[in-house]
Parts: sequence; structure tokens; C-alpha cells
Amino acid sequence: MKEETTMSKKVLVFAETKDGKLRNISFEAITVAQKLSEGGEVIVSLFGAGASQYVQEVSEYGANKVYLLEDEVLSTYTTDAYTQALCQLIEEAGADVILMGHTAIGKDVAPRAAARLGLGLVSDCTGVDVEGGKVVFTRPIYAGKAFQKKVFNEGKVFATLRPNNFDVEKNPAQAEVISFQPVIKDIRTVVKEIVRKTTGGVDLSEAKVIVSGGRGVKSEDGFKPLQELAEVLGGAVGASRGACDAEYCDYSLQIGQTGKVVTPDLYIACGISGAIQHLAGMSNSKVIVAINKDPEAPIFQVADYGIVGDLFEVVPLLTEEFKKALVSV
Ligand code: FAD
Repeated sequence: MKEETTMSKKVLVFAETKDGKLRNISFEAITVAQKLSEGGEVIVSLFGAGASQYVQEVSEYGANKVYLLEDEVLSTYTTDAYTQALCQLIEEAGADVILMGHTAIGKDVAPRAAARLGLGLVSDCTGVDVEGGKVVFTRPIYAGKAFQKKVFNEGKVFATLRPNNFDVEKNPAQAEVISFQPVIKDIRTVVKEIVRKTTGGVDLSEAKVIVSGGRGVKSEDGFKPLQELAEVLGGAVGASRGACDAEYCDYSLQIGQTGKVVTPDLYIACGISGAIQHLAGMSNSKVIVAINKDPEAPIFQVADYGIVGDLFEVVPLLTEEFKKALVSV
């Protein structure tokens, strides 16, 4: 394979919005795009009616070019419409690298669009670097036990980035704004209603603090003290699959290999043993606190701080102490 010698690239970022706001992963991806473009272009796409409202914000993070796809049909995500629009946009923009979040949308549309265009896809990247003039993607494998490096030699490539893993830097640019009208047809899905399951309004995948409960919480009511602690810390509540399987909480809270992958600043694991499948979803958290009455629990091997004790005694104490500490700040 011919090797890439010049680094000047056109990097397209698929910016994602949720509840009328740009998701943080969009800013992370734009920051990564700046590093990769090296004198090329940082192109950002905004999908859906009213998308022009985000132009100013994405240019503050360094977009040189913004494509607006304001078709009403793109206001709600459907696989068919987004795949068609994205494929046409990639051709139109002449993008070399396409970056998007490893979110529900990214996980769905990226492989489909990549396959349709015959491009490579590196998914769930936790690192993107330029080494010796080449783009190197790092991604976890074996449920986070090892990391794999993938080198991009030539041609276009897609990558999805794991949210909350990349620094965000503002770098204001004057963006050229282009309206793009893709041809969209044969949409097989009709979205009738979007029902969100939330815990206290904080989005689990973007929360800076997560208080997570396992089978040790023992019941649905057992989650209450965890919810109180999360509320005081402005965080969200998560869970192990053990807790979900036992019907103490909804599966939308599940963190791990087959649940959500999270990287908050603070992860408080309460009554969670620390199975490898759970660790796959939270071991990249910045600070991990484990509360478990079993001193041999494997969760203590990944925890920065461990509290051996009964969660029903420890969690309310933490809530009270945080309340006092946060009031006095
Ligand atoms: P347990 O392992 O039963 O641990 C409960 C812990 O609570 C124990 O350590 C105990 O000491 C402690 N405890 C009990 N009472 C108290 C108390 N009062 N105070 C303090 N501590 C207490 N799991 C996930 O979490 N996420 C996944 O995505 C996931 N995917 C999977 C995919 C596959 C293919 C498979 C096979 C499994 C998967 N699992 C996943 C399940 C995983 O293997 C574990 O079974 C699960 O994580 C265990 O949940 P737990 O830690 O809550 O329960």
C-alpha cells in the first residue's frame, strides 16, 4: 500500500445535537480534527432544520467550513436518511477523514455509510495521534484489557470517537457556511415519538459524576440513597447488569460491555463486584471510588479510593458530607 507522506487533510466532523444543544463529543471531535488536518480543512456538518443556530458555536472551536443540511427529514434521526445524506456529503466535501461520536447514532450510521462508500472504519477510538506523519487510532479491545493501534496509510477513513476521552480546545475560526441539499428517498422508518428514560435529567453518557449501583443495592428502593448522592453532586445514576437483571432499575442505566461506556470525572461504584464486563464500561473514568463490604471484591483493583463497608451506611454519610462541603464552597 502506498504510504501517505503529506498530512494536510480535509477532516469532516459529524456534529451531533441532543435536546437542542450540541453534544460535547462534537467539540471533542472538532479538536481532534484540528490536530489531524494540519493545514488542511476542519469541516463540520450540521443536520436538521434550524441547524444554522449552531454555526457560531462550532466556529469557536475551529471549524473552517460548515455544511448545513437543513432538510426537515434530517431533524429526527433515521438510519436511511442519515446514511444517504452523510454519503453524499462526504463525496461533496471531499473529506479524507470522517469523525463522529461513538454514540447511538455514530454506532449506527458510521458502519453503514463506510460500507456503502467502501471505506475503512475504526470504531470506538480512545486516542487519535499523528506519529511519523501518519494518523494512528487507538481503541480498546478484549473488553478494555488491551489497546490496539491502527495506522491510517492512505485513502479515506471513518472513525468513531468514544465520548469524554478527548480534550476540548477553543480555536475561533471564520467558517465558510455552505447549504447542502442531499437527495433523500425511500425512508423505511417513521419516528412517531421519542421516549427518553433519564435519571434526574443528567445524561448518563455525558455526566461528569456517576453514582452506580450493583446487586448490592438489593432492591429498587435501594437505589434511592444513590439517587440522593448523585443529585447533590449534579451527577447521574448508573448500574451494573446485575442490578438491571434483578429488576432494581431499568436497562437504560446499564454500564459495561453490553451497556453504556462512560468516562466521567468521578465514578462511585456501590455494591458492584467489578466483573470484567462492567469494568469495560467504566475503567477509563478519571477517579473511581468503590464501596463494597467485601474487601476482596475485584472492583478495588481498579479503584483509586476504596471504602470497605455497607453502602447503606456509607452512601448517606457521603451525601451529608458532600452537602456540607459544597455549601461552604
Ligand atoms: P455481583 O457480582 O453479585 O456483586 C454484588 C457486590 O455487592 C458484591 O461484591 C458484594 O460484596 C457487594 N455488596 C452486597 N451487599 C452490599 C452492601 N450492603 N454494601 C456494599 N457492598 C455490598 N455486567 C455489567 O455490569 N455490564 C455489562 O455490560 C455486562 N455485560 C455482560 C456481557 C456478557 C456477555 C456477560 C456474560 C456478562 C455481562 N455482565 C455485565 C455481567 C457481569 O459478568 C456480572 O455478572 C455483573 O456485572 C455483576 O453485577 P454486580 O457487580 O452488580 O453483582
